[in-house]
Amino acid sequence: MIRISEVHLDRRAEELVGDVLRSGRLAQGPMVAAFEAAFADIAGTAHAVAVNNGTTALVAALEAVGVGPGDEVITTPFTFVATVNAILERGALVRLVDIRPDDFTIDVAAVEAALTPHTRAVMPVHLYGSCADMLSLTKLVEREGAGIRIVEDAAQAHGAAIGGRAAGSFGVGCFSFYATKNLTTGEGGMVTTDDDEVADRLRLLRNQGMQQRYDYVLPGHNYRMTELQAAVGLAQITHLSAATDQRRRNAARLTAALADIEGLVLPTEGPGRHHVYHQYTVRLDEQARVGRDTLATELATKGIETGVYYPRPVHAYPCYRDHPDVLATAPLSEAEQAARQVLSLPIHPWLSDSDLNQISTAIHEVLS
Ligand SMILES: *Cc1c(COP(=O)(O)O)cnc(C)c1O
Repeated sequence: MIRISEVHLDRRAEELVGDVLRSGRLAQGPMVAAFEAAFADIAGTAHAVAVNNGTTALVAALEAVGVGPGDEVITTPFTFVATVNAILERGALVRLVDIRPDDFTIDVAAVEAALTPHTRAVMPVHLYGSCADMLSLTKLVEREGAGIRIVEDAAQAHGAAIGGRAAGSFGVGCFSFYATKNLTTGEGGMVTTDDDEVADRLRLLRNQGMQQRYDYVLPGHNYRMTELQAAVGLAQITHLSAATDQRRRNAARLTAALADIEGLVLPTEGPGRHHVYHQYTVRLDEQARVGRDTLATELATKGIETGVYYPRPVHAYPCYRDHPDVLATAPLSEAEQAARQVLSLPIHPWLSDSDLNQISTAIHEVLS
């Protein structure tokens, strides 16, 4: 079976984890600090604050920029549910707006239409490893004044960029190191920012609001990362850019091999973007010979695992549709259509040439 995601850790990871085990210091310490410093380089920010997962990264980021009850946060329903759960956890209202059909990221014109006097933050999602239109979004938010913050859900976009600026450097950036992400610590997260005050608040929030030992300055959480997680992350971070290059080469090969199949829309990088291909996601439109689910089933019988990210937009689930703090009033038809049409193919750096050939041959057999 050609898997949709694979994790291979090298000897360096074993060595660093061994160092932690022998040190006897397992909770947040020097390995976490080293991982943070290395990650700040990738996001191009002054600060990177490690936390225990990507969801708590989002919650802490929202809290650090002051989002709470009575505030509104604008995001899209075509995302992993953690984006929306983080806003709800802050007691804020979620305003869902549609995505762009070309790259599945937030439609900035729809954001503009959804602004209210209560809007405190906009959360673009850099879906599949490609940045949302941060240039337009930054302009819009600047025009609206200082009251609105950008909190980027960059969980899938380690090292992605647009206009020469890295994901996570436009507002407060939130990353995940979950098992299947481009950089993994099993579970883990990171918040990136250039804002010294936000960084200070994040460091307090992740550690019970404690400034000095037993000196509490605000009610916080336990969102700390362990030394073991940081060791696994630090060992991989040196290979991240090579692994991303391999993903990009794999994407170029699939794109060349799958061009001109009727009804099959391939991902594009888009102007000024550096796509890190967390997923290589195709769309099957009405012209395709079979539907998305049939293609997925056929590929599975040919030994190729695929993924649907995501099979339903968030507002299609009753627990969100009926939630008093989730507003899905704007048209969300692009998100709904994407959920019916998208399919992610294996793109990870461990694919061989023959795996890539097998994938493209199988797709031609089903669709051509
Ligand atoms: C993975 C992911 C998250 C959540 O990260 P966890 O580490 O699993 O908590 C949030 N948003 C998106 C878009 C993700 O892909």
